[in-house]
Parts: sequence; structure tokens; C-alpha cells
Amino acid sequence: MWIAAIAWDSRGYEVVCTHSDGRSLAPWRMGAGETDVLVRRLGELAAETGCEVAAVLDSTNGLLDGPLLAAGVTVLRADPWLLPQRPENASVSAEQLARHAAPALNRLVRLSTEVGTLAGRLDDLRRNIRDSADVERELTLRGLYLVRGAPTAPRVALTFDDGPQPPHTDGVLDVLREFQVPATFFCVGLHADAHPATLERIASEGHHIGNHTWSHPYLPDLTRDELDFQIEATNRAIRRVTGTDPRMLRPPYGSRTPDVLRWIADHGMATVLWDNDPCDWAMPGTAAIVDNAVRQTGWGSVVLMHDGGGDRSQTVRALSDIIRQLTEDGYQFATVDETLEHHAAHLAGTPAC
Ligand code: ZN
Repeated sequence: MWIAAIAWDSRGYEVVCTHSDGRSLAPWRMGAGETDVLVRRLGELAAETGCEVAAVLDSTNGLLDGPLLAAGVTVLRADPWLLPQRPENASVSAEQLARHAAPALNRLVRLSTEVGTLAGRLDDLRRNIRDSADVERELTLRGLYLVRGAPTAPRVALTFDDGPQPPHTDGVLDVLREFQVPATFFCVGLHADAHPATLERIASEGHHIGNHTWSHPYLPDLTRDELDFQIEATNRAIRRVTGTDPRMLRPPYGSRTPDVLRWIADHGMATVLWDNDPCDWAMPGTAAIVDNAVRQTGWGSVVLMHDGGGDRSQTVRALSDIIRQLTEDGYQFATVDETLEHHAAHLAGTPAC
């Protein structure tokens, strides 16, 4: 079997392929916009050698499992206790990842589209979220934490994570333009850096842009220096195109600890979550996404959807029906920064307009 160990850094990805019989291929680098090249090369390697290929990612790389799984590639996650310490601005190198993963294959976690990137760590995720409740309350009062807006008006915020990623981001933008609906895009730095023209289109069409980290890591695994890199490098990539720094951050998977929330607040940024997850990331079909989104929407809801990180054609197809049905139910659409303002006014007891 081939192990394709994939590392990320501030420029993109590096791939090292090693075989259980000792063979290895020359490492290669690829940009974050070349996922299709990666999928094709791994497919060719399997076909040419007649051997299975398993991609190995670490827990700080949450952007490739979706497209690889969709292409039928086996994806294994190596957790930090199997790996050496990372630098603050990258995962462990692809060579290190291959070297440490190969003898520990039975301790790697096999991922699936249905369970998601955090398979096997969901209890850890939930425990960290429970432990964060006190800090969440404190930050809410400071206007630096939001799950949903004030339930004072039929207002809903549509949000799209993990892009910008053509052609799906463009598909989402086309629908939003047709219906004249504003939305919020939580962009990952690797994709913002790789697709500046798409990011420019999001901004020029009047949508709001937030930070969704550089490489989509599981945040409780990061040191403060690593989190600072994830925030600042992504802000830089967005600022290069839009001229302004994002003021909001959405943690990948909603993962957080009390420390992570305080560190984000130290950047002057609000942590934004959601109360409505139609599970488009699991690709349950267009009708299910529409039904989930509409059924779970209440006054002030923040809806989590995705324009990147995999094949988002179901999301694009669902979006017109979601907008049409919510409009028929009397909802108006707001960006998350407007929702945060209304929420702050609600908490302060002043009427929101
Ligand atoms: Zn995400």
C-alpha cells in the first residue's frame, strides 16, 4: 500500500508518497487550488502500480479529506500524540508525517464523509465545548461571541464556509445575486490565497467576509502561537484583496476551549458559530438540505453552509429553494455583522431597527 502523506504550510501543500515495500517517490508541492491535480495523481499512482493509496493528513489539515473521500481515496488522520511538535506556521513536514504514520497505521483514524473530519474525537470536541460555557457568556456580553441573533425580528443570516473555491463559490454568488440576498463568507486562508479573484467577487458584490483559519485545524490541538498564525495569515490574505481585516472568526467544527476563545478575543475578533446546520457537508441530497435549513430556521438564526472544502453542488442547487421558502415565511436576510449589532442592541435593551 502507498501512503501519501500531505503537509501544509504558508504556500500550499507538500506530498510524499512511500510504499510499504520501501519504495518512495520524489516529494511534490502543489498550490491549495490544485486539489483536482492531487486527486488525479493519487488515482494514477493506484492504477499504474495496482496498489491501494491512502492519504494521511494531520489534525491541523481539514480541507482535503472532503475532496479526497469524494474521489474514492482512503483518508487517514494522524493525531498529535503520534507526531512530533509542529512549527507554528505549518503542519509537520510530509516526510515526518510519512515516517511516523507508516508504523502506526492501526492507530490512524479512517475518515468518512458521513462522520466528518473529527471521527473518533467527537467526545473530546463536546467536552471542550461544555467547558467553554463561562467564557462564552462573558464574551457574549462584550459583543465578541455569537451563536444566533436576537429573536426580535424575522431575520436570518446565511453563511458559507471553507471557500473561496470555484466553481462552487461562483454558483452560490450567482444565486445570491439573482435574489438580491446578502450573505457572509467565512474564508480559509489557503483558499483565499489561491483564489483572489473569487474573493474579490465576494467583496465586490457586497457580502461580508470572516476568517475561518488558514488550514482548518481542530483548534484545541493548537498552541497560542499556532492559533495566532492561523488568524493573522488568513487576515493578511483577505486584507490583500479587500483592503480590510476581518473582525469575525468562525472556528472550524465549532471547536473551542476557554483559552482558544480568549485568544481569538485578544485579536479583537468575535467568535461566530451557528444555530442551524443543514448538514450540507455530509451531502445528504438537495431536498434534505432545503428541508433541514428551512425547518431549523427561527428569528435570528445563523445558517451554516459550505461553498468550499469539497463538492458543494448540492448546496448551490438547494440555495434558491431555501431563499424562496424563507422569503415566503416572511424572513429578511442579514449579514453576520448586522446580526451581531442587532444582538448587542438587544442585550443592551435598546430597540433594534
Ligand atoms: Zn469549515
